[in-house]
Amino acid sequence: MAIQLDHVRYAYPEAPEDVVLNISEWSVSDGERVFVHGPSGSGKSTLLNLLSGMLVCREGCVSILGERLDKMSARQRDRFRANQIGYVFQQFNLMPYLNAIENIELAHIFSHRERKRGGVKRAQELLAALNIVPSDWYKPSSRLSIGQQQRVAIARALVNKPALLIADEPTSSLDQENRDNFMSVLMSLATENAITLLFVSHDMSLSRDFGRTDALADVNRSR
Ligand code: ADP
Ligand code: MG
Repeated sequence: MAIQLDHVRYAYPEAPEDVVLNISEWSVSDGERVFVHGPSGSGKSTLLNLLSGMLVCREGCVSILGERLDKMSARQRDRFRANQIGYVFQQFNLMPYLNAIENIELAHIFSHRERKRGGVKRAQELLAALNIVPSDWYKPSSRLSIGQQQRVAIARALVNKPALLIADEPTSSLDQENRDNFMSVLMSLATENAITLLFVSHDMSLSRDFGRTDALADVNRSR
Protein backbone atom coordinates (compact mmCIF):
# COMPACT_ATOMS: atom_id res chain seq x y z
CA MET A 1 0.00 0.00 0.00
CA ALA A 2 1.39 3.41 -0.94
CA ILE A 3 -0.69 5.32 1.61
CA GLN A 4 -2.65 4.01 4.59
CA LEU A 5 -4.35 6.24 7.15
CA ASP A 6 -6.07 4.88 10.26
CA HIS A 7 -7.99 6.97 12.77
CA VAL A 8 -6.10 10.12 11.97
CA ARG A 9 -7.16 13.27 13.77
CA TYR A 10 -5.28 16.49 13.22
CA ALA A 11 -5.58 19.98 14.69
CA TYR A 12 -2.92 22.66 14.32
CA PRO A 13 -1.09 23.30 17.61
CA GLU A 14 -2.14 26.97 17.36
CA ALA A 15 -5.83 26.00 17.26
CA PRO A 16 -6.20 22.70 19.14
CA GLU A 17 -10.00 22.96 19.32
CA ASP A 18 -10.36 23.14 15.54
CA VAL A 19 -10.02 19.58 14.23
CA VAL A 20 -9.10 20.01 10.56
CA LEU A 21 -8.91 16.32 9.66
CA ASN A 22 -10.71 13.34 11.14
CA ILE A 23 -10.23 10.34 8.87
CA SER A 24 -11.12 6.89 10.11
CA GLU A 25 -9.63 4.97 7.18
CA TRP A 26 -8.27 5.92 3.80
CA SER A 27 -5.74 4.27 1.52
CA VAL A 28 -4.08 4.46 -1.87
CA SER A 29 -2.62 1.35 -3.55
CA ASP A 30 0.79 1.20 -5.18
CA GLY A 31 0.69 2.66 -8.67
CA GLU A 32 -2.75 4.21 -8.23
CA ARG A 33 -3.51 7.74 -9.47
CA VAL A 34 -5.87 9.50 -7.17
CA PHE A 35 -7.50 12.90 -7.51
CA VAL A 36 -8.79 14.41 -4.26
CA HIS A 37 -10.98 17.47 -4.46
CA GLY A 38 -12.41 19.83 -1.94
CA PRO A 39 -13.09 23.55 -1.61
CA SER A 40 -10.51 25.99 -0.35
CA GLY A 41 -9.96 25.57 3.39
CA SER A 42 -11.24 21.99 3.48
CA GLY A 43 -7.89 20.54 4.58
CA LYS A 44 -6.27 19.38 1.32
CA SER A 45 -2.86 20.91 2.00
CA THR A 46 -3.01 19.78 5.62
CA LEU A 47 -3.61 16.21 4.44
CA LEU A 48 -0.68 16.34 2.00
CA ASN A 49 1.61 17.82 4.63
CA LEU A 50 0.75 14.95 6.98
CA LEU A 51 1.45 12.42 4.23
CA SER A 52 4.84 13.94 3.44
CA GLY A 53 5.80 14.29 7.09
CA MET A 54 6.00 18.07 7.02
CA LEU A 55 3.30 17.99 9.70
CA VAL A 56 3.26 15.29 12.34
CA CYS A 57 0.20 13.30 13.22
CA ARG A 58 -0.23 12.89 17.00
CA GLU A 59 -3.38 10.77 16.81
CA GLY A 60 -3.73 7.78 14.53
CA CYS A 61 -1.43 6.01 12.08
CA VAL A 62 0.10 7.38 8.88
CA SER A 63 1.85 4.69 6.82
CA ILE A 64 3.60 5.64 3.60
CA LEU A 65 5.10 2.85 1.45
CA GLY A 66 4.76 0.55 4.44
CA GLU A 67 6.59 2.84 6.90
CA ARG A 68 4.99 4.50 9.90
CA LEU A 69 5.67 8.23 9.48
CA ASP A 70 4.10 9.04 12.83
CA LYS A 71 6.73 6.89 14.58
CA MET A 72 9.74 8.53 12.94
CA SER A 73 11.98 11.23 14.34
CA ALA A 74 12.09 14.57 12.53
CA ARG A 75 15.38 13.58 10.95
CA GLN A 76 14.05 10.22 9.78
CA ARG A 77 11.00 11.94 8.29
CA ASP A 78 13.17 14.43 6.42
CA ARG A 79 15.31 11.67 5.00
CA PHE A 80 12.29 9.55 4.11
CA ARG A 81 10.68 12.49 2.31
CA ALA A 82 13.84 13.32 0.39
CA ASN A 83 14.25 9.73 -0.78
CA GLN A 84 10.71 8.55 -1.38
CA ILE A 85 8.39 11.47 -1.99
CA GLY A 86 8.25 14.04 -4.75
CA TYR A 87 6.25 17.15 -3.96
CA VAL A 88 4.94 19.76 -6.38
CA PHE A 89 3.65 22.87 -4.65
CA GLN A 90 0.97 25.32 -5.69
CA GLN A 91 3.51 28.14 -5.96
CA PHE A 92 6.35 25.94 -7.31
CA ASN A 93 8.72 27.11 -4.52
CA LEU A 94 11.72 27.36 -6.81
CA MET A 95 14.68 29.38 -5.57
CA PRO A 96 14.30 32.44 -7.85
CA TYR A 97 18.01 33.28 -8.05
CA LEU A 98 19.08 29.70 -8.84
CA ASN A 99 18.81 28.33 -12.35
CA ALA A 100 16.78 25.26 -13.36
CA ILE A 101 19.68 22.83 -12.98
CA GLU A 102 20.61 24.23 -9.55
CA ASN A 103 17.01 24.06 -8.33
CA ILE A 104 16.80 20.41 -9.32
CA GLU A 105 20.21 19.59 -7.90
CA LEU A 106 19.21 21.09 -4.58
CA ALA A 107 16.56 18.40 -4.16
CA HIS A 108 19.12 15.84 -5.22
CA ILE A 109 21.63 16.95 -2.62
CA PHE A 110 19.09 16.43 0.17
CA SER A 111 18.61 12.82 -0.85
CA HIS A 112 20.85 10.28 0.82
CA ARG A 113 20.28 7.44 -1.61
CA GLU A 114 21.05 9.29 -4.80
CA ARG A 115 23.63 11.66 -3.39
CA LYS A 116 26.30 12.79 -5.82
CA ARG A 117 25.32 10.19 -8.40
CA GLY A 118 24.67 11.85 -11.71
CA GLY A 119 22.61 14.74 -10.38
CA VAL A 120 23.34 17.19 -13.19
CA LYS A 121 22.91 14.57 -15.87
CA ARG A 122 19.55 13.48 -14.54
CA ALA A 123 18.46 17.13 -14.19
CA GLN A 124 19.38 17.71 -17.83
CA GLU A 125 17.54 14.59 -18.98
CA LEU A 126 14.40 15.62 -17.11
CA LEU A 127 14.50 19.18 -18.43
CA ALA A 128 14.93 17.89 -21.97
CA ALA A 129 12.02 15.47 -21.48
CA LEU A 130 9.95 18.42 -20.25
CA ASN A 131 10.75 20.45 -23.38
CA ILE A 132 12.89 23.05 -21.68
CA VAL A 133 15.57 23.99 -24.18
CA PRO A 134 19.23 24.02 -23.06
CA SER A 135 19.49 27.80 -23.49
CA ASP A 136 16.97 28.12 -20.62
CA TRP A 137 18.70 25.71 -18.23
CA TYR A 138 21.09 28.30 -16.82
CA LYS A 139 18.78 31.30 -16.46
CA PRO A 140 17.65 32.30 -12.97
CA SER A 141 14.27 30.60 -12.52
CA SER A 142 12.61 33.95 -11.91
CA ARG A 143 13.28 34.72 -15.59
CA LEU A 144 11.45 31.59 -16.83
CA SER A 145 7.79 31.70 -17.77
CA ILE A 146 5.25 30.40 -15.28
CA GLY A 147 4.66 27.30 -17.41
CA GLN A 148 8.42 26.62 -17.55
CA GLN A 149 8.79 27.14 -13.81
CA GLN A 150 6.09 24.59 -13.14
CA ARG A 151 7.84 22.08 -15.40
CA VAL A 152 11.12 22.68 -13.54
CA ALA A 153 9.17 22.01 -10.34
CA ILE A 154 8.07 18.60 -11.70
CA ALA A 155 11.65 17.83 -12.70
CA ARG A 156 12.76 18.71 -9.17
CA ALA A 157 10.05 16.47 -7.68
CA LEU A 158 11.15 13.55 -9.86
CA VAL A 159 14.94 13.85 -9.62
CA ASN A 160 15.24 11.39 -6.75
CA LYS A 161 12.99 8.84 -8.46
CA PRO A 162 10.30 8.96 -5.79
CA ALA A 163 7.81 6.12 -5.38
CA LEU A 164 5.10 8.63 -4.50
CA LEU A 165 4.40 11.98 -6.14
CA ILE A 166 2.21 14.46 -4.30
CA ALA A 167 0.88 17.54 -6.09
CA ASP A 168 -0.88 20.37 -4.27
CA GLU A 169 -2.99 22.38 -6.76
CA PRO A 170 0.00 22.65 -9.08
CA THR A 171 -1.96 24.09 -12.00
CA SER A 172 -3.79 26.91 -10.25
CA SER A 173 -1.57 29.66 -11.63
CA LEU A 174 -1.35 28.22 -15.16
CA ASP A 175 -3.46 29.23 -18.13
CA GLN A 176 -5.46 26.62 -20.06
CA GLU A 177 -2.70 25.74 -22.50
CA ASN A 178 -0.01 25.40 -19.84
CA ARG A 179 -2.44 23.48 -17.65
CA ASP A 180 -3.17 20.91 -20.37
CA ASN A 181 0.52 20.63 -21.13
CA PHE A 182 1.41 20.22 -17.47
CA MET A 183 -1.18 17.48 -16.96
CA SER A 184 -0.06 15.48 -19.98
CA VAL A 185 3.61 15.73 -18.97
CA LEU A 186 2.76 14.74 -15.40
CA MET A 187 0.74 11.73 -16.52
CA SER A 188 3.34 10.43 -18.95
CA LEU A 189 6.15 10.82 -16.39
CA ALA A 190 4.05 9.04 -13.75
CA THR A 191 3.49 6.15 -16.18
CA GLU A 192 7.11 5.96 -17.32
CA ASN A 193 8.44 5.93 -13.78
CA ALA A 194 5.63 3.76 -12.29
CA ILE A 195 4.91 6.41 -9.66
CA THR A 196 1.89 6.49 -7.36
CA LEU A 197 0.25 9.86 -7.85
CA LEU A 198 -1.83 11.85 -5.39
CA PHE A 199 -3.14 15.13 -6.77
CA VAL A 200 -5.36 17.59 -4.91
CA SER A 201 -7.32 20.45 -6.37
CA HIS A 202 -10.57 22.35 -6.10
CA ASP A 203 -10.85 22.16 -9.90
CA MET A 204 -12.95 19.10 -10.74
CA SER A 205 -12.26 19.43 -14.47
CA LEU A 206 -8.77 18.03 -13.85
CA SER A 207 -10.15 14.75 -12.50
CA ARG A 208 -10.61 13.24 -15.98
CA ASP A 209 -6.95 12.21 -16.10
CA PHE A 210 -7.23 10.05 -12.96
CA GLY A 211 -8.35 6.50 -12.35
CA ARG A 212 -9.95 7.41 -9.03
CA THR A 213 -11.55 10.56 -7.67
CA ASP A 214 -12.32 11.11 -3.97
CA ALA A 215 -14.14 14.02 -2.39
CA LEU A 216 -12.28 15.04 0.74
CA ALA A 217 -15.64 15.66 2.38
CA ASP A 218 -16.48 11.94 2.01
CA VAL A 219 -13.23 10.94 3.68
CA ASN A 220 -12.92 13.63 6.32
CA ARG A 221 -15.50 13.64 9.11
CA SER A 222 -14.20 16.71 10.95
CA ARG A 223 -16.66 19.24 9.57
P1 ADP B 1 -6.98 23.68 1.62
O1 ADP B 1 -5.62 23.26 1.20
O2 ADP B 1 -8.03 22.67 1.29
O3 ADP B 1 -7.34 25.03 1.12
P2 ADP B 1 -5.79 23.85 4.26
O4 ADP B 1 -5.34 22.47 4.58
O5 ADP B 1 -4.76 24.83 3.83
O6 ADP B 1 -7.00 23.76 3.22
O7 ADP B 1 -6.51 24.46 5.54
C1 ADP B 1 -7.49 23.72 6.27
C2 ADP B 1 -7.84 24.49 7.53
O8 ADP B 1 -6.70 24.56 8.38
C3 ADP B 1 -8.27 25.92 7.30
O9 ADP B 1 -9.30 26.21 8.20
C4 ADP B 1 -7.03 26.72 7.62
O10 ADP B 1 -7.37 27.99 8.10
C5 ADP B 1 -6.39 25.90 8.71
N1 ADP B 1 -4.92 26.07 8.71
C6 ADP B 1 -4.09 25.89 7.66
N2 ADP B 1 -2.81 26.09 8.02
C7 ADP B 1 -2.83 26.43 9.34
C8 ADP B 1 -1.84 26.76 10.30
N3 ADP B 1 -0.53 26.78 9.97
N4 ADP B 1 -2.24 27.04 11.55
C9 ADP B 1 -3.54 27.00 11.89
N5 ADP B 1 -4.53 26.69 11.04
C10 ADP B 1 -4.20 26.41 9.77
MG1 MG C 1 -4.22 24.16 -0.07
